[in-house]
Amino acid sequence: MLAELRGLNEECGIFAVWGHEDAARITYYGLHSLQHRGQEGTGIITSDGKQLSGHKGEGLVSEMFNEQVLSKLIGNAAIGHVRYATAGGGGYENVQPLLFHSQTGSMALAHNGNLVNANLIKSILEQQGSIFQTSSDTEVLAHLIRRNSGWLLKDRVKSALKQIEGAFAYVILTEKELMIALDPKGLRPLSLGKLGDAYVAASETCAFDAIGAEFIRDILPGELLIINDDGLHLEFFTESRDEAICTMEYIYFSRPDSNLQGINVHTARKNLGKRLAMEAGIEADVVTAVPDSGVSTAIGYAEASGIPYELGLIKNRYVGRTFIQPSQTLREQGVKMKLSAVRGVVEGKRVIMVDDSIVRGTTSKRIVAMLKAAGAVEVHVVISSPPIKYPCFYGIDTSTKEELIAHGHSPEEIRQLIGADSLTFLSTEGMLEAIGRPNTWKNCGQCLACFTGEYPTELYPDSLQYYYQK
Ligand code: SF4
Repeated sequence: MLAELRGLNEECGIFAVWGHEDAARITYYGLHSLQHRGQEGTGIITSDGKQLSGHKGEGLVSEMFNEQVLSKLIGNAAIGHVRYATAGGGGYENVQPLLFHSQTGSMALAHNGNLVNANLIKSILEQQGSIFQTSSDTEVLAHLIRRNSGWLLKDRVKSALKQIEGAFAYVILTEKELMIALDPKGLRPLSLGKLGDAYVAASETCAFDAIGAEFIRDILPGELLIINDDGLHLEFFTESRDEAICTMEYIYFSRPDSNLQGINVHTARKNLGKRLAMEAGIEADVVTAVPDSGVSTAIGYAEASGIPYELGLIKNRYVGRTFIQPSQTLREQGVKMKLSAVRGVVEGKRVIMVDDSIVRGTTSKRIVAMLKAAGAVEVHVVISSPPIKYPCFYGIDTSTKEELIAHGHSPEEIRQLIGADSLTFLSTEGMLEAIGRPNTWKNCGQCLACFTGEYPTELYPDSLQYYYQK
């Protein structure tokens, strides 16, 4: 769905490489393929073994980097980040990787996810004299690492990782080492690959395809990988591990060509569509998708129901960040920038509109109205997830509880509010079966918190306060 329209936004994407002579360019291409995870800011930091150099700024990867900039980022190792501002808000100082210098050396960090105890730790550290440069919770880990002086860096990092809670996939670069860590629940995806003799890590495997790297394996919850001139070393920083990967990565965030823990995202979405067709059982003339994430699901829906899939909605791909958005008045008069209904496809038809989720309901309402204005005689909305009733504390910007339409309304009330002829949400069981992860862990090792309110980690009063005050 069009995330920017409806208040469900990706959090971030990270990339790392060790042992490649063109580390900055490899990172540039890797980040470019992760651009869908965040468009507000991006940065790359390289190491040449003696010092770290970097470049970052607010904007897209293609806007921030050019030949001249990349040629100054020297070294065989690099980390990079694409950002969507969640905790801490936007602004240049919060664009990652964050870089810290001290007498013992430099350290760069990039983070995907959100810490639930960041504010608590931050206030304790501030009372003890720490000064924070940014409002990003990512800096909390750097301070925790720094204050344990005297040990090996690896031990300081392990100790710091034990103190933080929430969703985190980190890449940490020093002059001599690259470290990669995933939180004990594995809430965010993170994979390891090889490019010749070089190691690479990325939030999604589509980044490996973009650079011609070979997928090695997914990084395990609670794992810390240390890569230096001696090779790759694997450790766990905690014994308390299980698995709760974000379900919305399968349904919405990740690219269809990525594989998440062995499951191709396009295939998972097609299966969600097939299951949805079984559960909905609606009679109609055409199936259409809300682009982009609804497309794979709609193909599956059409295949299982026998109703043809058509391009009933078209997304305008060239509406950039800096495009002048129409005023509310112009919007009400019908100026549409991001999505259009195809009259030739939907006119006089009973349309099944496939989407991945409903957050506030305002976008669904607008799209239903758009299809009806283009001549659709009936619009049946089918959603490939259960109702989102609870906010996410793990780096997905899903609004406050009060703003979630499913929190205070039944499916029938939502149907009326969005003006659809029918509304079907996929059942939780149907969703888990369709995604098809093994039943080894609770809920097939998936986080379902935004549907059920059962959070896989502790929540802290300060993190709750942050979200409810937004
Ligand atoms: S609460 Fe929802 S969006 Fe957040 S990590 Fe869990 S499944 Fe993903």
